[in-house]
Amino acid sequence: MNPLQNEIKYLKGVGEHRGRLLQKLGIKKIGDILEHFPRDYINRAKTDKICNLKFGENCAIVGKIIAVEKKNFGRRKSQLNIVISDGDDNLFCTWFRFGKWLSDKLETGQQIWVSGLVTQFRNSPQIIHPEIEILDDADETNDFWHSRKMLPVYPLTDGISANIMRKLIYNAFSIYSKNITETLPDYILQKYDFESRNNSLQKVHFSQNLKEIPKLKKRFAFEELFFTQLMLARCKKYHEKTKGNKFILQKTFTSKLKKSLPFELTNAQKRVLQEILDDMTSDQQMNRLLQGDVGSGKTIVTVFALLLALENGFQAVLMAPTEILAEQHFKSISAFLQNQRNIKIALLKGGNYKGKKLVKEQIQNGEIDIIIGTHALIQKDVNFKKVGIVAIDEQHRFGVEQRAILSQKNNAPDLMYLSATPIPRSLALTVYGDLDISILDELPPNRKSIKTVWRGASKKHIIYEEIRTELQNGHQIYIVCPLVEESEKMDLLDAETLFATISTKIFPEFKSAILHGRMKAAEKDEIMQNFKEKKIDVLVSTTVIEVGIDIPNATVMLIEHAERFGLSQLHQLRGRVGRGEEKSYCYLISYPPISNDGRERLNTMVATNDGFVIAEKDLEIRGPGNFFGTEQSGLPVFKHANIVRDRELLNQARILAFDIIAKDENLQLPENVILKEIYFQTYFKREKLFDY
Ligand code: ADP
Ligand code: MG
Repeated sequence: MNPLQNEIKYLKGVGEHRGRLLQKLGIKKIGDILEHFPRDYINRAKTDKICNLKFGENCAIVGKIIAVEKKNFGRRKSQLNIVISDGDDNLFCTWFRFGKWLSDKLETGQQIWVSGLVTQFRNSPQIIHPEIEILDDADETNDFWHSRKMLPVYPLTDGISANIMRKLIYNAFSIYSKNITETLPDYILQKYDFESRNNSLQKVHFSQNLKEIPKLKKRFAFEELFFTQLMLARCKKYHEKTKGNKFILQKTFTSKLKKSLPFELTNAQKRVLQEILDDMTSDQQMNRLLQGDVGSGKTIVTVFALLLALENGFQAVLMAPTEILAEQHFKSISAFLQNQRNIKIALLKGGNYKGKKLVKEQIQNGEIDIIIGTHALIQKDVNFKKVGIVAIDEQHRFGVEQRAILSQKNNAPDLMYLSATPIPRSLALTVYGDLDISILDELPPNRKSIKTVWRGASKKHIIYEEIRTELQNGHQIYIVCPLVEESEKMDLLDAETLFATISTKIFPEFKSAILHGRMKAAEKDEIMQNFKEKKIDVLVSTTVIEVGIDIPNATVMLIEHAERFGLSQLHQLRGRVGRGEEKSYCYLISYPPISNDGRERLNTMVATNDGFVIAEKDLEIRGPGNFFGTEQSGLPVFKHANIVRDRELLNQARILAFDIIAKDENLQLPENVILKEIYFQTYFKREKLFDY
């Protein structure tokens, strides 16, 4: 075995204790520390003299600590000051917030590097909250680094100081660099002008020329993106080879639905439906992601697909993440099929309830044609007679395995994944890169655009008056709050307090209700039902109404503490209104302090209604890891690549990977020997997950 695969504790200088600490940084094997890249570099040769510092400019200084002082003001406030001398002049450094680790670490006599913005303190230069690096450490002196001009600055953890980390990195390379093997074949290295893996790794840590770093790092980002795409290419190939049911457009149920529709399909709906029908009438299994902004009309497109399976003698399944959504689908699909009484539709919910056993029997013996439900559908005791299509709504809420179960149990039914969160292209290619993608990029024509207004909390009374007019005109409104009840920790307005104010002081003449996640499902459903039936005018709620709820008479969405919500979530909430022909409004109410990101989010909301633009912005602000807000999104974890920054590299990696798999699916050509080895060692396990 390659020694780089050995546990990190066996590296010279590590041992059990440090081994555990390094794990926190994701360093488990010796090979991992080679890929623990510097987050920055210090150029010791390029430092400033304190006498030359200019107020308002950034600087880097190397000097000796000549004083350390910690002041305490009362119980909670304290301040840490140090004075640094470069032999001639003094520089003050000050922290108003700092951990004990910092005050413990700094001692007079230490050689230190500091960097930051120069400010003025009693006519002397001062840096507040500087970046620092202690350059020597009595027990950890390391001759190698002492003579270096460039010093790498590593991400650290408690107990592993910068000096220890540098020493370990040095040890790892001096002992194991001969064991570093190449992961990319020559033809790829040449194509992109990448250096060998060994050289690239060494230079990232030991380079004396910072200009070459970005290009060196690019290699590692590319590698991650490329192998992931190789995996997706293989999965896609696998889907394509999977034989599915070849349906025939019988035009019985589908034509009848088409004739009974109260509206004309949009061009986008027609196009997407054609893509789906083409898949279903081919003998390959369908694996298609249907993306469309809120209100773009995904449901009806889905119903056509379900009916095509039905008219070929199969059952159709629709799985939704929550009971409210499953019920709404049940109701709206039942309504679309009102004039086709011969089609039997059933709702399957979680838990035990009267009649559930019978429904399960009818599902099993084929009496029921369309089965709509929640996670309950993937329980062991639910068996279908003959499933032709499975559609999964809000699919990112389900794990890859959960998604796979329905398919594995049922003989390669066609699979359709629905997403109301528009997914930026780079993310879609990474998470759903094995699926075909259809996009509904057009809203039905009867929609009025939603007017979005952002106001500070002090202007609330004005907003309430504007809303009152809507209520007087017979419309309904949503008011959303981030929390259910008053919380000690956070000073936020909560739904219960707000509900009390709204119902008794602000809109006493209208009927208000409260809805939140701690209520029982039945209670929630009753309230939603009452709201739908217009027995309630004002619905004060937490974000439980987030997805899919369709009530065209609701024309106002007021979001309290809008600064606390993510962009996609704000957009989802806004999508609850503007679903009918009336003009609708979205009020975003913010409370200080608002972070810069928060400001950017709210400005974006005011500026655009386009879900795809918002999704891109959201990805940019929050980063890929948080985009879906769930752990189950199936997003691969990248150490070096960032799909926002590396979009272009991702495209290139994808094209190359798909090309290679098209020609050499199992990587058997001599030129792909290296790929084969790395792929099957590292990525094959993950591929198995996709292997529906
Ligand atoms: P979403 O894509 O958010 O799931 P829905 O499928 O719930 O959207 O559709 C939103 C509303 O628009 C529903 O009331 C639906 O009946 C209606 N709708 C769908 N397609 C059209 C269309 N082409 N013209 C008019 N209304 C439509
Ligand atoms: Mg929907």
